[in-house]
Amino acid sequence: MAFQSGEGQTEDYLFKIVLIGDSAVGKSNLLARFARDEFYSNSKSTIGVEFQTQKMEINGKEVKAQIWDTAGQERFRAVTSAYYRGAVGALLVYDISRRQTFDSIGRWLNELQTHSDMNVITILVGNKSDLKDAREVTTAEGKVLAEAQGLFFIETSALDSSNVTAAFQTVVRELFNILSRKVI
Ligand code: GDP
Ligand code: MG
Repeated sequence: MAFQSGEGQTEDYLFKIVLIGDSAVGKSNLLARFARDEFYSNSKSTIGVEFQTQKMEINGKEVKAQIWDTAGQERFRAVTSAYYRGAVGALLVYDISRRQTFDSIGRWLNELQTHSDMNVITILVGNKSDLKDAREVTTAEGKVLAEAQGLFFIETSALDSSNVTAAFQTVVRELFNILSRKVI
């Protein structure tokens, strides 16, 4: 979803971005770190809140990202179609220390494509990069999968803040660029 206000010289952009990926990969903590610079060592971060709106500046323009977090439905593989409705961007997250969460990526991509009527700008996010000794998925494997699927790629740590802002910004900047091209 993207809106232009048309009032004077201000242009408002609002992008719905969804967080998806297996349970406990760190989706809620990525949002908590990005939006509030907080981290939770337990699963309290998955609060019932549907979405959080975050202002960002891209090329001197104010852009709002409406970032949706699951309320834990992914545990039962029951993320609703309402969750995906209108999404233009996605962070597809796995945990670099749990291979099974990487193996689930294909299923999440299918689900995303099934529920959206457009090409959703997606970044593959290998979270928990701080867990170096427990790594089960190499950086190269993440890159290869992302390239094969036409996704952006980044490794992050919600714990030590590494690349968290960059992950969200990559998606928002690409959406902004696509939209500005269309407007012109
Ligand atoms: P969600 O189910 O995908 O929303 O995952 P959560 O954000 O609730 O995180 C699940 C667990 O992983 C929690 O215990 C977090 O503290 C932990 N966690 C999340 N991100 C990181 C990270 O970057 N590094 C480490 N070491 N732990 C993390
Ligand atoms: Mg959560």
